[in-house]
Amino acid sequence: MKCVICKHGETKEGKVTVTLEKGASTIVFKDVPAMVCDNCGEKYIDEKVTKKLLEKARELVKNGAEVDIRKFQSAA
Ligand SMILES: [Zn+2]
Repeated sequence: MKCVICKHGETKEGKVTVTLEKGASTIVFKDVPAMVCDNCGEKYIDEKVTKKLLEKARELVKNGAEVDIRKFQSAA
């Protein structure tokens, strides 16, 4: 699809790193599947994937994680 941010690039499937900050906690997910603009680098993450990330992050924060870095695959 065409990128809605720069309106020039085309998005391509790729893997990105997503950082979520909640209060004092920072949760980093690597290898998250996303569509990435080949021009400006804007990331488009699927709604289902986003939901999964937020759920996992909430769980980690609840367990007292301050900094947690994990691969999306093992988090899912
Ligand atoms: Zn773009």
